[in-house]
Amino acid sequence: MLDIDGDRLNARLAAFAAIGGTANGGVNRQALTEGDRRARRLLGELAQARGFLVFQDPMANLFIRRKGRDDTAAPVVIGSHLDSQPAGGRFDGALGTLSAFEVLESLEDAGIETERPVVVVSWTNEEGCRFAPGCMGSMAFSAGEIPAAWQGKVATDGASFAEELALTIASLPEAEMLPLGFSVHAYIEVHIEQGPSLEANEIPIGVVKGIQGTRWLDVAVTGQTAHAGTTGLSYRRDPLRALTAALSSLYETVMPDDPDARFTVGRISAEPGSVNAIPDRVRCTIDMRHPEPSRLDDIERLVISCITVEARRQGCNAEITRSFDMAPCIFSDTLQQAIEQAAAARKIKSAAMLSGAFHDALFVNRVAPAAMIFVPCRDGLSHNEAEYVEPAHAVTGCDVLAQATLEIAGESENGRS
Ligand SMILES: [Zn+2]
Repeated sequence: MLDIDGDRLNARLAAFAAIGGTANGGVNRQALTEGDRRARRLLGELAQARGFLVFQDPMANLFIRRKGRDDTAAPVVIGSHLDSQPAGGRFDGALGTLSAFEVLESLEDAGIETERPVVVVSWTNEEGCRFAPGCMGSMAFSAGEIPAAWQGKVATDGASFAEELALTIASLPEAEMLPLGFSVHAYIEVHIEQGPSLEANEIPIGVVKGIQGTRWLDVAVTGQTAHAGTTGLSYRRDPLRALTAALSSLYETVMPDDPDARFTVGRISAEPGSVNAIPDRVRCTIDMRHPEPSRLDDIERLVISCITVEARRQGCNAEITRSFDMAPCIFSDTLQQAIEQAAAARKIKSAAMLSGAFHDALFVNRVAPAAMIFVPCRDGLSHNEAEYVEPAHAVTGCDVLAQATLEIAGESENGRS
């Protein structure tokens, strides 16, 4: 067993929440801003004060390394991100990063030598709100290269990605620069659930089985614009009527027929958008999610056929294109078991669950066994200044991370000094 210092963890969460803290108690610490750099510097200083090695890579991913007995062995990597949404909460990302750092300090405090090195990571730009896409740091790390197209990116506030990245790297001059990507034995990330199920079921630990796949469609249905007053029913080719008929049928089938499915229309528009004209074109987006690739295929086929049939019925034409496709991710069984057992050893209730949102672990999982530990957040609220995690839940999540990390990194025979 490895005892963590829960008070120290909660004090750290408060200290980091002050960096970019908002008047409403939230955090605005968007990726590659001065706030982000201040948070990274603070973590780097805390790490150096404990004698850990601090390094970074060309994506400004920040790493803190504690030696293992076999220091050439691939490390166990634990962590999350420190960037936030513009009106973000104090726990999304920070909880996982600071829990990981607490594990490193607890190992040091207890004088435990692990077989493998343990590395804490803070990934760059998980949120993707200032520079899209999200998870840039972990994506580049797992691909082993930074996509050339990113260099020219300009932020929502006009800043250049290349310049902000260079500034961020330069703001930690003491951190040794390493090439992108290294061999990882296992990756574990603690994160708030960002949904209501753990809190509602009074379960303090979610063992994440995987992240559901996501597919986006752009839909355009074309008919004919005509006078709202003079055009009788049989003369209409109304694309809005076709689309709404298709959508209402999809709302009645996709999610009601399958509790794991998600179906969302988040954007819809009609052209020319006149109060007294039948539209000639309507457009909408469709976001579909499911943990199983084959079901995602089924849902996509159903959506396409339903819209196509309704369009034809109204004498309209449907054009549907896929704009985004993210395959589902299935986390390592071994790591899930280690987390489950770590919770059981501490007599903490846990439940297996899926993640509805993307996380850095999804990308790391492409190159190493990965898993996640979820903790409850109040009312399931996240990406919101009111985001809140009970201090006791933060401690429980960190505690389970500590036991799982020790199990996977292995306690060396030299044991505790
Ligand atoms: Zn996050």
